[in-house]
Amino acid sequence: MADYKHPETIALHGGTYRSDPATTAVAVPIYQTTSYQFKDAKTAANLFGLKEFGNIYTRIMNPTCNVLEERVAALEGGVAACAVGSGQAATAMCIQNLAQAGDNIVASTDLYGGTVNLFKNTLRQQGIEVRFADPADPKNFEKLTDEKTRAYYGETLPNPYLRVFPIKEVSDIGRKHGIPLVMDNTAAPVICKPLEHGAAIVLHSLTKFIGGHGTSIGGIVVDGGNFDWIKNRKRQPLLNEPDQSYGGAIWTDAVPVLTGANIPFIIRFRVVLLRDTGAPLAPFNAWQIIQGLETVGLRMKQHCSNAEKVITFLETQKKVKNVIYPTNHQGEIKERAKKYLSGGNGALVGADLGTAEAGAKFIDNLKMLYHVANIGDARSLAIHPASTTHSQLSPEEQLAAGVTPGYVRLSIGIEHPDDIIADIKQALAA
Ligand code: PLP
Repeated sequence: MADYKHPETIALHGGTYRSDPATTAVAVPIYQTTSYQFKDAKTAANLFGLKEFGNIYTRIMNPTCNVLEERVAALEGGVAACAVGSGQAATAMCIQNLAQAGDNIVASTDLYGGTVNLFKNTLRQQGIEVRFADPADPKNFEKLTDEKTRAYYGETLPNPYLRVFPIKEVSDIGRKHGIPLVMDNTAAPVICKPLEHGAAIVLHSLTKFIGGHGTSIGGIVVDGGNFDWIKNRKRQPLLNEPDQSYGGAIWTDAVPVLTGANIPFIIRFRVVLLRDTGAPLAPFNAWQIIQGLETVGLRMKQHCSNAEKVITFLETQKKVKNVIYPTNHQGEIKERAKKYLSGGNGALVGADLGTAEAGAKFIDNLKMLYHVANIGDARSLAIHPASTTHSQLSPEEQLAAGVTPGYVRLSIGIEHPDDIIADIKQALAA
């Protein structure tokens, strides 16, 4: 596998795929198949017994998905990855691969709303407690840790606050205790590589910037291969105790022998959780997302440079009370943006228009920007969270989440910046 350094190159050439082994086709084929013919009975037995790796059934692996997995793993500087049906599935299964009933994890308070629902309600119903720590002070993670804490969880660039997460600070605390940091890097592909700052696992909603064209839902989990899972075996029982569904295999012992790599996390994720929960990414969606991935480096540059121009414009507007952006914070929070983001500060921009009426009216008057509950599309998008995504929360809860009544969230696309600004300008004037 060639060891390319630049994300633009990795997005096109990362991983082992060079051309289709059957036809020499250069573009990645869609392997739209459920199953694979075994060479012989012995090979089949070996595949099922994990004595050798290969294709068995598309619920667990697929060659089109494999190209995507290898490339995203390379893009993030990880060792291996597993694609799933959505970003939500990636988050849920990531936690289920580390924690079981009676365990807890410590998660940032700055998270995507869907993740908060999963953590506060569904995981709790399954017996996994999620404790929430304000990442403003990384020590808050340590304060909530006990002997049953199995993971720390954060988002690189969470909206609406857009405070960059203290990746190294929290991962250092975790590593001291044998606790891996899981980072949702959905909003910052290419511009941040959490594994380089100590995270053990990175996940993405592929639906957003990596897919980039608003066509397909998908998720992926990348194993950094950089975590000592057996330093304290009791800390990570799911990976260190015999797995009855695989003849008593202990993943931390078996996987390095089988694969030559320190990736028990992602192997168990695939062969146990993907097998049992059945949430794979469809090959056609993997193919769509690969088309997006191939230009993600270029698009992120344009997203970020357009966002900077939009901010410069918004800051001159009297109707805009506050402009929220990673580098608009002060002190330590601003320093984190400088430390962890490179090549741009992201596409997400918040504009506080003062009142809920002003926020809603602005959205209604946009002509080019789409009014959608999404981020990361090549097109510019907008939403008024107080009346939509956060409308189930009380006014106090909205404020705690950073959603002021007049807050408008913009996901700046890759159109010409003059056209984006012209649309925002006319909507503000109206
Ligand atoms: N993580 C983040 C940061 C998100 O913004 C989203 C979706 O908006 C998700 C995860 C969930 O992804 P999906 O919609 O692909 O399930």
